[in-house]
Amino acid sequence: MTYQISIIGAGFAAVAAAQDVRARLPHAQITMIAPHAEFIYLPSLIWIPSGIRKPDDLRIPLARFLKKHSIDFHHGAATGINDDGRVVHTDNGDVANDGLIIACGGQFIKKLPGIEHVITPCEGIDAAVQIRDRLAAMDGGALAFGFAGNPKEPAAMRGGPMFEFLFGIERQLRKEKRRDAFDITFFCPAPRPGKRLGDAAVDRLLARMKARGITIHIGHKIKGFGADFVETEGGKFAANLTLFMPGMTGNSWFATSPLPLSGGGMIRADALCRVEGFKNTYVAGDAGSFPGPGWMPKQAHMAELQAKAAAHNLARELRGKTPDTRFKTELVCVIDSMDQGILVYRSPRRAMIFPPLRLGHWAKRYFETHYLKRLR
Ligand SMILES: Cc1cc2nc3c(=O)[nH]c(=O)nc-3n(C[C@H](O)[C@H](O)[C@H](O)COP(=O)(O)OP(=O)(O)OC[C@H]3O[C@@H](n4cnc5c(N)ncnc54)[C@H](O)[C@@H]3O)c2cc1C
Repeated sequence: MTYQISIIGAGFAAVAAAQDVRARLPHAQITMIAPHAEFIYLPSLIWIPSGIRKPDDLRIPLARFLKKHSIDFHHGAATGINDDGRVVHTDNGDVANDGLIIACGGQFIKKLPGIEHVITPCEGIDAAVQIRDRLAAMDGGALAFGFAGNPKEPAAMRGGPMFEFLFGIERQLRKEKRRDAFDITFFCPAPRPGKRLGDAAVDRLLARMKARGITIHIGHKIKGFGADFVETEGGKFAANLTLFMPGMTGNSWFATSPLPLSGGGMIRADALCRVEGFKNTYVAGDAGSFPGPGWMPKQAHMAELQAKAAAHNLARELRGKTPDTRFKTELVCVIDSMDQGILVYRSPRRAMIFPPLRLGHWAKRYFETHYLKRLR
């Protein structure tokens, strides 16, 4: 039988799911649904401010990948699904399917007063370019870097990249011999920012900030932002340029769909990536809320592990077999600072952190090249 499979998204989870579905269902008609047939390599946004990477280095057209794996592409943003998931509504028409994998990532909560004054670096290439250009235009001043979580879903946050922007830009200013002209503050409402990386990692990151002359303002609820300040319940400080990553939530269309949602607004799934209460419907990556330890990261590596489990289980379910693959839970990241990287690893059994090494930085670059080769 020729199954029709729809995959919503064109990021880490969607690409891994599409490739895995193709391997498991060689005759399936697979349709990827996304606004643009391109892949954005988000982890390397951190290198745009320093010029190590240019926007087009990170924007990979998917035409070759789609052709190689015989995948159709539907240009359009998903806007909803019908009750049983067998039709995806988009702003460019409907797409029918026998099986669906939702992999359209997450969104940031933009509710704090004055949020229009901050740049949310993880939103994509345009945000990273804005940071690069704003920094280049500044003679000096106050910089603020911070992140927050989603109070209704503590795992829905993106802290790691914020440390990378912080340490990377601090290093960049030193290399440009203008660090002395800037005051840098790190802020976060959590008393132990980055706790999901492990306690040793938090201590090391805070110690590194102190050693770099970065002011630490943590443990205070954020009240809001202005053009030249950040205000928390612990006080107000100057910030001529604020980089802030709010907590994450699900895509806005989830809320008006029949999909089951977690407290934080992500799609609720079981340990097999099945959307609760739906047949032949799976979720992978940042779009989902999965059972597991509190430190389970919203990361590309995790998105791929979930996507592979989702593809495997969907293929089995379509063939009338019982889905049986659970995704592995693992946190692997390199916290880069432009020319060094701290490797952090966490699994249910162990948590490890390595000292900053040049090798860490180069490992991150190598991984990017290796990953993108698949798509180019
Ligand atoms: C600056 C930065 C640094 C990072 N560093 C690391 C790192 O070092 N290691 C790591 O593992 N992870 C890292 N991450 C996290 C990682 O990039 C994400 O966890 C990962 O991209 C999640 O994959 P995803 O496929 O779920 O979502 P995404 O990669 O965000 O992809 C979502 C896709 O869905 C599409 N889409 C959105 N809305 C719709 C819609 N309505 N309809 C159809 N398609 C839609 C988007 O266009 C996109 O193609 C970093 C992230 C950032 C921003």
